[in-house]
Parts: sequence; C-alpha cells; structure tokens
Amino acid sequence: MARFDVLSDKALRRDPLTREELLGVLGSGDDDLMDLVAAAARPRLRFFGRTVKLNYLVNLKSGLCPEDCTYCSQRLGSTADVVTYTWLKPDQAAEAARAGVRAGAARVCLVASGRGPTDRDVDRLRPTIEGIKAEHPGVEVCACLGLLSDGQAESLRASGADAYNHNLNTSGERYSEICTTHTFDDRVETVGKAKAAGLSPCSGLIAGMGESDADLADALLALRALDPDSVPVNFLIPFEGTPLAGRWDLDPQRCLRILAAARLAFPDAEVRLAAGREVHLRGLQSTALYLANSIFLGDYLTSEGQAGRADLEMIRDAGFTVLGADGDGANDGHGADGGRERPDLVRPRHRGTGTALPPNA
Ligand code: SF4
Repeated sequence: MARFDVLSDKALRRDPLTREELLGVLGSGDDDLMDLVAAAARPRLRFFGRTVKLNYLVNLKSGLCPEDCTYCSQRLGSTADVVTYTWLKPDQAAEAARAGVRAGAARVCLVASGRGPTDRDVDRLRPTIEGIKAEHPGVEVCACLGLLSDGQAESLRASGADAYNHNLNTSGERYSEICTTHTFDDRVETVGKAKAAGLSPCSGLIAGMGESDADLADALLALRALDPDSVPVNFLIPFEGTPLAGRWDLDPQRCLRILAAARLAFPDAEVRLAAGREVHLRGLQSTALYLANSIFLGDYLTSEGQAGRADLEMIRDAGFTVLGADGDGANDGHGADGGRERPDLVRPRHRGTGTALPPNA
C-alpha cells in the first residue's frame, strides 16, 4: 500500500486523522508530493466529484479596525495602502453581489472589518441580506463580521443569512503571537454561537505566518472539534505596513501539503482555497483543485487576484466544472444557465485595493 493510502482510506470513512498523521503529511517531502495529492484527492472526488464551488466576497466595510491582528492590513496602526469606508448601502451591496453571481458564485460572503458588529450593525444588514436572497434565492449568503455578541447570530439567521465565517487562523497555543486584542477562545465561542443559531459554520486558517507544522496540525484539530461545514485555507500575503511584511515562508509545494492535510482532516467538508492562492500556488493552482473543492472567485475582497475569466478557464482546463453550471440550482435559477453571464465577469464597483486577506479572517 502506498504511503498515504491508509490516510485516504481513513478519510473516505470520515475517520479523523491523528496529530501524528497530520504531522506526517505536513512534513512529507517533494518526492512524495504527487502521491500525497493523489491520496487526498480521493475523498475530494468521492464527496464532491469534479465540482468547484465559487464564492464571491463583498466588502461591506473596510479598514478602521481597532484590533491588532498582525496579518491584517486593516489592523490598528496599519500603514498599508487600503481603502477605508463604512457600510455599503443595500443597493451597493446588491450590485456587487450581482456581479459575483453572474460570474458563477454559489455563495456571497458579506465581510466587514472590525472587532465585531454592534446590534445596530446587525440590524442595518437585514435589508442587505434580504435583498440578495430575494434576487438570488439559490445563492448562499455568508456573513463575516467578527466576534458575535449574544443574540446577533440569531438575528443574522432571521435576516436570511445561511452561514457565518470566523476563522481560528492558527493554533490556540500561538494565537497571542498574532493578536493581543482578542483571544483564540473568543473565536471558538463565536463559531459556536453561529452554529447554535443555525448558521452553517465556516472556519479555517491562515498559513505562512511563521507557524510550525505542529501549529498547523493543532489548528486543524481545533477546527475539526468545531465541525465546520466549510474550511477556508488562506495563505498569508505579507503586506507592507503590517508586522508580517516581508514574511514569504510558503512555496507552492508547501501550500499543496497544507491543502492535502486540510482535505484529509475534513474529507467531506468544503475546503476552500482562499487568500493568497495566486501568489503562493502560482502554476500549481489547478493541481490544488484536486484538494480544494471551493475557491474565491477573482479579486476577492480588497486584493487583485486572477481575473474571474482566468479562474473559470483554469477550472475548465483542469477538467472540473463550476458547481451550479449544469443547472443544479446552486445559483439563482433565473434562466437556463442560472441567470449568469459566464464566463464574462462584471467587476463590482465597490471594491478597494490593498490587502488580500479578509478582515476577520
Ligand atoms: S482581521 Fe478583522 S479584527 Fe483583525 S485587524 Fe483585521 S479587520 Fe480587525
């Protein structure tokens, strides 16, 4: 039996990998990389076929954050060149969401910078969520607003939100090295609140912040304990003006190993290739589709990623299909092609530039 087959067999049974097994994946060498990808691709293909889910970020509020997450260009004291603005109006958010859905997005992620929303913020989001759901009933709406206070998850659910994203980012052991203004436990608690309110929990990590393999394994195990439905894997883009500027720890092979570990740890959950895929995976992005079954489309949030058209071509060239593109109802259901104008991407107007990492990531 090939080296990693025992792990893919476990994943196919949905059995959890041990810490040692995750460390073995993360510490494996380049000569074994294609064996690893093949092994981790088995659960991906079993549970998701050759579909790729597209997600689209709408940045509702940018910059001006009082928190000090070291990876974030919107943090307190950041000198990164980011556009700052407060809440988009519902029609502005709807326009941005429309562009993503037309390009094929099955999920719209509504993101706001800041420690967490006020109750007034949650109220103000209601017409935004309701408007997007009314226009695109088959499209999932995920909110990403930071730490939640009691009752806010329930309000978001009542507004029609389907999911809530709040990432653990790294191991609990290391969390205080990347942020001092809130704790790992705060993040765990918010994911729990979202889940308890009936929102689909979405929580993942950021790799490339100087963490060890043990930190990554521990982060994956902590995430597994939360049983998220979707797991974004972000690769740090070390922006000038942040404490992690100049930190380029990752290479494409390591990114694939991290994605393989995520897939084997979450065999039937949505593993989403998120920030940094273009700059860190580069020519191996299409190989990564054998591990991740979900990507952010185009210029997610405030960064410039691959153009939407290039993403769609990459998916097609790699032999995968966009979830919903065959009329399975994943998108808004208007017209034979779900109302989309693929592969032409209409870029939203209300997007900034300057950071590739979602706030509250
Ligand atoms: S990740 Fe979120 S909470 Fe942290 S600094 Fe950025 S916007 Fe603020």
